[in-house]
Amino acid sequence: LVQLFRPLDMLGMVYRTIRQGLIDMAAMFRLIDTRLEVEDTPGAPALMVQHPTVQFEDVVFGYDPDRTILHGLSFEVPAGNRTAIVGPSGAGKSTIARLLFRFYDPGEGRILIDGQDIALVTQASLRAHIGIVPQDSVLFNETIGYNIAYGRDGATQDDILRAAQGAAILPLIERLPRGLDTEVGERGLKLSGGEKQRVAIARTLVKNPPILLLDEATSALDTGTEQAILETLRRVSENRTTLSIAHRLSTIADADEILVMDHGRIVERGSHRALLRHDGLYAEMWTRQQAEREDIPAAAAE
Ligand code: ATP
Repeated sequence: LVQLFRPLDMLGMVYRTIRQGLIDMAAMFRLIDTRLEVEDTPGAPALMVQHPTVQFEDVVFGYDPDRTILHGLSFEVPAGNRTAIVGPSGAGKSTIARLLFRFYDPGEGRILIDGQDIALVTQASLRAHIGIVPQDSVLFNETIGYNIAYGRDGATQDDILRAAQGAAILPLIERLPRGLDTEVGERGLKLSGGEKQRVAIARTLVKNPPILLLDEATSALDTGTEQAILETLRRVSENRTTLSIAHRLSTIADADEILVMDHGRIVERGSHRALLRHDGLYAEMWTRQQAEREDIPAAAAE
């Protein structure tokens, strides 16, 4: 999701804050709320979610009027299901995520959550229902407790500890003399990439959103840590409607549905097995990635 925020780089304030390493997603949203041109319609109601289905209906979108990026995209993620989006670089995967957060509105078509057009509800209520776990989590120079509690106003100590447990970071916290009050970041405890990721997961658990958006590329982590994080994410996404942007296909083989994107279109869709049988782009990507994995030990031994 670093890509997700590319359009914001031009905003000086955001840029400086990123450089200070102080930014996180929620803070980013607040800045966005005041800066981007997408506005709430006057008197817009709050999004009310009972069955968190996500639907894209014939969505057409381009960042510039003369270049269409998404060409009439339709898909539905039923409540509680996990859909993965895969495809070559530039296919439009992150753009889907940006639209779901309403950084932009579609040129044509609609995006619905539980039957409500997200363009017609307040942005605050929309974002309150969506949790994001980005691939590179950046924390505040604050205590671990603060960083986790940031997921929701009024989170209690109990909420924080339960979230830390769910994100499998509680053992680390319990080993620290100051526990949740331990400062992290530049002036405090340096957390590894995997630990930061776990704090971000805990933050999402405190928020307890019905919809999750995961960016699964975890290139910064070693394989063992990555597997452990993926396992945690899998647990966290149970019973939530989950949209995963995946780069490594091995991590999404158990998704309920896989959407294969190419040049802004869904070119194939189905389960991992069905897509392999279909023997198209997905099968080709799978074969290539399997071969690359087999190459790794050989390359490492050289
Ligand atoms: P990757 O796997 O490399 O992250 P992706 O599938 O997520 O790629 P997107 O980031 O959605 O691809 O980009 C889709 C297309 O939109 C690309 O051609 C990209 O150049 C273009 N694009 C992305 N962001 C912008 C922007 N802010 N302004 C103009 N064009 C953009």
